[in-house]
Amino acid sequence: MKNLAEMPVATPCPVCGKKTLFYRAVELEIPNFGKCLETTVYCKSCGFRHSDVLMLETHEPLRYEMPIEDEEDLNARVIRSTSGTITIPEIGAKLEPGPFSEAFITNVEGVLNRFVDILLQLLHTYPDKREEILEVMRKIGYIRHGRMKATIILDDPFGNSAIVSEKATKRTLSEDEVKNLKTGEITIDLRNLRRDSP
Ligand SMILES: [Zn+2]
Repeated sequence: MKNLAEMPVATPCPVCGKKTLFYRAVELEIPNFGKCLETTVYCKSCGFRHSDVLMLETHEPLRYEMPIEDEEDLNARVIRSTSGTITIPEIGAKLEPGPFSEAFITNVEGVLNRFVDILLQLLHTYPDKREEILEVMRKIGYIRHGRMKATIILDDPFGNSAIVSEKATKRTLSEDEVKNLKTGEITIDLRNLRRDSP
């Protein structure tokens, strides 16, 4: 990790309004992958932060796809920039770029945890969907323990996202696929849920 820059930003913090915003750029070397640049704006008063990642070696629209088959697969690195869309079709879960989307560098397990956090929020907001939500959470549990196979797909029109694993395949996205990438928020499609559990 190489710290390239750290400097104050002459703008009040969007959250607390204090002039304590800083900008930081760090070069990260991802094992078996290459270099990327992580940029972060953060507030020293209230803890607000917003980061993004930029790949330094690839720039084309890319799709990464990896089967999640056993517990070992949970350790695969996932780099998701603010322009990346993550889909796990088997549970109808999708994380799209949106106004509040954050870049993150995590692993497959971290992605599953994010979906569980979202489901827990949904449980409060939609108590009438309780059964469907619990069903998705059960499936995530099965995936986590290698009892249900799933696929993680990561699309990025700027090629700034990646799944780092020998099992991941990578291909260029077609123009149509790029056009169809939506920006929005996090969706978990409860309607298309299949009732069959493994
Ligand atoms: Zn602040």
